[in-house]
This record gives sequence, structure tokens and C-alpha cells, in this order.
Amino acid sequence: MYDPKSMKAEEFISHEEVLETLAYAQANKHNAALIDSILQKARERKGLSHREAAVLLDCDLEDRNQEIYALARQIKQDFYGNRIVMFAPLYLSNYCVNGCVYCPYHSKNKHIPRKKLTLEEVEREVIALQDMGHKRLAIEAGEDPVNNPIEYILDCIRTIYSVKHKNGAIRRVNVNIAATTVENYRKLKEAGIGTYVLFQETYHKDSYEKLHPTGPKHNYAYHTEAMDRAMAGGIDDVGLGVLFGLELYRYEFAALLMHAEHLEAVHGVGPHTISVPRIRRADDIDPSVFDNGIDDDTFAKIVACIRIAVPYTGMIISTRESPACREKVLGLGVSQISGGSRTSVGGYVEEEPEDEKSEQFEVSDRRTLDQVVRWLMELGHIPSFCTACYREGRTGDRFMSLCKSGQIQNCCHPNALMTLEEYLIDYASPETRDIGRKLIQKELANIPNPKVRSLVERNLELIRQGQRDFRL
Ligand code: SF4
Ligand code: SF4
Repeated sequence: MYDPKSMKAEEFISHEEVLETLAYAQANKHNAALIDSILQKARERKGLSHREAAVLLDCDLEDRNQEIYALARQIKQDFYGNRIVMFAPLYLSNYCVNGCVYCPYHSKNKHIPRKKLTLEEVEREVIALQDMGHKRLAIEAGEDPVNNPIEYILDCIRTIYSVKHKNGAIRRVNVNIAATTVENYRKLKEAGIGTYVLFQETYHKDSYEKLHPTGPKHNYAYHTEAMDRAMAGGIDDVGLGVLFGLELYRYEFAALLMHAEHLEAVHGVGPHTISVPRIRRADDIDPSVFDNGIDDDTFAKIVACIRIAVPYTGMIISTRESPACREKVLGLGVSQISGGSRTSVGGYVEEEPEDEKSEQFEVSDRRTLDQVVRWLMELGHIPSFCTACYREGRTGDRFMSLCKSGQIQNCCHPNALMTLEEYLIDYASPETRDIGRKLIQKELANIPNPKVRSLVERNLELIRQGQRDFRL
């Protein structure tokens, strides 16, 4: 029944295979010899199967767990260095015909204000985001064929790319909209999107159907097979994710990796990113009614094990998480974070009054982008506003083969420094600028190739003279 190459959701996410994996992991959680052999394989940096990774997740031996964390940190350092890519969500519309029981935008919620940005409002939101310093957005919209048809999404994408305000520009638009047709994915590709992101929410079919009682999203197979249609439509960077808290985390973890294996087996390229959201409080939503919530330590272990299992896949964490939790998982494998986020429709231009809240979830990290950038630098990370790969056509398997050759590092680090310099000049507070300048100076020395180093030094000088948008 289980077949990673099958195009049927229930065969590449086989329920029986997940259960057998969980039983195998439970049976071996004290098996030091097996855990050592899995860790040995993981040290080769080629990833792990879902079964192997599940054993590490369940591992109950304290010393081996310390090895797991150390290896995750090392892999993070080797593949991503100390860079963290920055992005922000942009909510276009909260009209939705679905009945997802964990989301305040579900169609039965009659008291939440429904909003949909006009193209003029999109422009104003984008200017506000550019004025913060953002270059990379993730657009979000509910599923509603009447209010949010694909033409509306495409118009919004064109508008976002067209806004050039002062030195600002949105250089990459990732899209998080409902599962759709190959034809619509093709249209998104033609509109120049970066990654197509679709959270599975839960891979457990029975739970999925209960949590999505009404609307087109109820169809488990259509939702789970969406990434295959996206890839058939020409989108080669796709982002997976589950909403931790809905189902047993061990089930989601194994199935998520099975989904990654399926994409690799069928399309020759795994997911570009994996997101790890946890359920949050929102209008109409009390997270305590979902009894599969996970604590911060379990969350950290999940992040570490994903890092080890799929070293080439970026990992994203949002402002759902508190600064303390974000700090904990940054070193374990997260490569992208949002900053200064608003999770309501139109929230960047105007703060919503208390009685008109339309946010999708409560943000835990409420700091401004400037504060997040400074905090990252104080922790020794380099905030990066890089969008170079997408713009140089390094997507899908081209991106993966560059990653696997190790050469991507020679692009990421210089690009991070150049885009950070742009940010510091155009948007940072004096205090942040000061810290950033020192960091850039120090990090220049970590560019091993002297030719690249002098090119970056020259470009930094040109950025200070007013030029923008250098990339390798
Ligand atoms: S999770 Fe998405 S599809 Fe479900 S109700 Fe919320 S906006 Fe709609
Ligand atoms: S060079 Fe490519 S992989 Fe590296 S940070 Fe930029 S966009 Fe990401």
C-alpha cells in the first residue's frame, strides 16, 4: 500500500506506514546501537528516512539526545551559517468558504470583520512593508472563489511587484493560498511567485476530515496532492507545513517527512521549505480545546530532527512563537523568520481597534522589524534580506544541486551582508545601524575567496553611495 512514488495521497502518506513507523520508533527509543548508527548516517549530511528520523525524535537516552541537538546545530551552521532570512506575511483577504475549526476565518464565524484589500490598499500595505525594510513577502488569503478568485490573487501579485517606493522593492512574493488546479498554479508561476506554500494542517485523514467539516478543503486527497499539481504547473519551489497541536506530533512528523520523500521520489526535488507553526489563540479559537499541544522542549526536538532529516530544506518559524522560543530554535535549524508581522487584513497601514480585530492568530512576538533585526545581530546571527536565488533563476533542482555542491554558501553569505547593508542605510535605527556595521565588518573576513571578498567590499561602498540591488 505504501508507495512514495504513487500520486495518490493515501498511498504516499500511508496511514499503516505511519503507524508502523511510530511503533518502530517506540520500540527502539532506548536502542543505543541503532540510534548511534542513525546518527552516524546523519553525519554524512545526506538526510534520513522518515523511519530513522522518527527513532531520533523518540530517542529517550539523554546523552544521545544531546548528540542530536549538537548535530542539528552543526548541520545548521554548515548549511546556513549564522544567517537568518527575513520575511513578512501580507494578508489580502479573510473571506473564506471553509470550515476549519482551528481558524477564526472559518465561514461560520459571523462576528469577525471580513475584509478584502483593494489594489490601492495592497499598494499602501506594500509601501508600509517597504518602509519597514522588507523585501520578501508571503501573501495569505482565505479560499473563496467569489471574493478571492485567482484573478484577484494575480492582480495583487502584479501590484506588489510594481510598487517602487523610495529605495524599497518587494523582490520575492511567496504565496499561501488554498489548494487549486494545475492551470491556476501555472498562472501563479507566470506571475513570478517564489515558493508556493500550503500547510497540510494534519496528515491524519480522519482527523483532517473532522477538523475541516465543510468546504472544498474537506477533501483530504485534493489538499494532500496539491503540491504535485503545483509542480505539474511549473512551480518548483514548494513549502510544506503542519499545524502542531491538532494531532499527535509524532504522527505529523513522520508523515511530513514522507511527504518530502514523495516529492523527491516523483519530482526529483524535495520541499524548498518546511514551516513549523503551533496552534495559537485567536477570535473564536481557544487552543486549549486541542489536546495535542506540544511544549517548547518537544518543539525544539522536532526542529532539531527535521534539520537532521532534510538538511537542504529551509525551515520557517513565524511570530506565532515568543522571542524566547524563537531564540531557542534558531540555532537548531530554523533558517527563515518573520518580523514585525501583522496577521490581519490591512494591518500594516492601520492598527485595528480592539472591537474590530480581524487577525488570524495572536502574534507572540510583537517587536518591530528593527528590534528583531537588532536582537538577531546581538545573538550573533546575520539578518538577510536576500532574494537572489529566485531572481537568478536558481529554483527547484537548480537550487538543490547548487546546495548539494556546497557552493550556495558562497552566494548566501555575501548576499546577506550586502542586503543587510541596504537595510541599515535605508531603514535601521542608529543603534541597529551601529551594531550592523560592526557585524558586517567582522563577517567580511569570513568570506574565504579573496576575489569575492573584494567584490563585496566594492559593492558595499557602492551601496553607501546610493546604488542598490547587488547579488551573487
Ligand atoms: S485555515 Fe485557511 S482555509 Fe481554513 S478557514 Fe482559515 S483561511 Fe479558510
Ligand atoms: S543566495 Fe539563495 S539560498 Fe542563499 S539566502 Fe539568498 S536566496 Fe537564499
